[in-house]
Amino acid sequence: MQLNDQGLLKNKAYIDGKWVDSDSGATFAVVNPATGETIAEVAKCGQAETRRAIEAAEKAQKSWAAKTAKERSAVLRKWFDLMIAHQEDLATIMTVEQGKPLAESRGEIMYAASFLEWFAEEGKRLYGDTIPTHRGDTRLVTIKQPIGVTAAITPWNFPSAMITRKAGPALASGCTQVLKPAEATPLSALALVELAERAGVPAGVLSVVTGDRDDSQAIGHEMTTSHIVRKISFTGSTAVGKLLMQQAAGTVKKVGMELGGNAPFIVFDDADLDKAIEGAIACKFRNAGQTCVCANRILVQDGIFDAFSARLAEAVDSFKVGNGMEDGVVIGPLINDSAVSKVHRLVKAAKASGAKAIAGGEKMDGNFYDPTLLVDVTRDMDIANEEIFGPVATLMRFSTEEEAIDIANDTPFGLAAYFYSRDIGRCWRVSEGLEYGMVGVNSGILSTELAPFGGVKESGIGREGSYQGIEDWVEVKYLCMGDI
Ligand code: ADP
Repeated sequence: MQLNDQGLLKNKAYIDGKWVDSDSGATFAVVNPATGETIAEVAKCGQAETRRAIEAAEKAQKSWAAKTAKERSAVLRKWFDLMIAHQEDLATIMTVEQGKPLAESRGEIMYAASFLEWFAEEGKRLYGDTIPTHRGDTRLVTIKQPIGVTAAITPWNFPSAMITRKAGPALASGCTQVLKPAEATPLSALALVELAERAGVPAGVLSVVTGDRDDSQAIGHEMTTSHIVRKISFTGSTAVGKLLMQQAAGTVKKVGMELGGNAPFIVFDDADLDKAIEGAIACKFRNAGQTCVCANRILVQDGIFDAFSARLAEAVDSFKVGNGMEDGVVIGPLINDSAVSKVHRLVKAAKASGAKAIAGGEKMDGNFYDPTLLVDVTRDMDIANEEIFGPVATLMRFSTEEEAIDIANDTPFGLAAYFYSRDIGRCWRVSEGLEYGMVGVNSGILSTELAPFGGVKESGIGREGSYQGIEDWVEVKYLCMGDI
């Protein structure tokens, strides 16, 4: 891989401020999903390396927390500046290991960097309270202190942003962190921590332990059962999130969970059709459909259904599929062949139960999947209940507002929902009726560092981004000051 700054390409783990091989010397391969080529062999770490990283995080935490918020902020701001300066290299690494089109990778680097900028500032605003007293000789005060040593496990679909969304507020508040990036995308994580080191993040404050799929169990187990680690923050599947919560129960750790979704995207008869089509495309097909906030079920009201489905089919047919490094590609590969098989299993099962593909519907060579639009999808089909995580849009028809809300809420998940309507009363009713942590109203995209990202029901616990996103990394301590 050719970069402007070849120093960003790392293949060792980063523990206690040093680049290290795994104890066994073993490595695992990182593969370009567009070409199948191995791009790097990365340190294959496990329990012992994780424990050392945690011990280093403990050693570093007191002095990191003792710095002023402004001092920590200056380091994070420098890290942000370095990310911006190296945007092109970071985006290239991301596209080569993850597959998303280069333009999307550039966008993710800006989005990822924005969390460092934001939390560098928010760290200075972790205010406590003074509370009107219950006794004349006593004063009541709260202060906020960092949780301490924390651990983070991140997914491959946003290889950089999911890291800074956790490490940013953790470091800003005075926590230290041990990070395990996804096995498919460790290079993005290692490049970020190289920049963190250059920005002046001290040894032990942020370590990265890399490993393959099998190692993730040992690494995750050490993180969740360690008495030193006080919080585990996870973004990934609901199944793994539940397992980590169980493991963390033994030491009553704080947990932050950003898990799966099953986003409804509702188009009412009174919607602006052009805007709704544009929103549905952005929401469904970004990152080849591999995001937890992608529209999983598009619900369209009777009166607008035919126009909407015809327009969307035309758009889906026109998408250029290919290697994300090529100009004009809007749909890259899926992350690996099992992702392709899963998407195809859902499409085949839906077709067998009566759904019709009016665009696409087939596997392509390698890890590519033909952008697909299915109509006549019903709520009992697997494709309407499982996260598709691929470039496949499913359309369902409905008649009334109540029916749309009922279908939308008929899932154990509650991450993001979207709807299009020009009726102000309906906008409020539907916004309040949807059992989701985030609702896009006439907007197919809602992620920003300024707003709280997170889910309800089985989609998660806690919020990332916004001022809430740093509150999740501190403890409130109450001081009862008597004998005044
Ligand atoms: P996906 O199926 O999209 O890869 P996962 O939830 O399986 O989503 O993966 C998200 C992250 O969780 C990755 O970093 C992965 O390595 C990690 N992971 C997977 N299984 C475990 C586990 N048993 N313990 C800890 N981490 C795990």
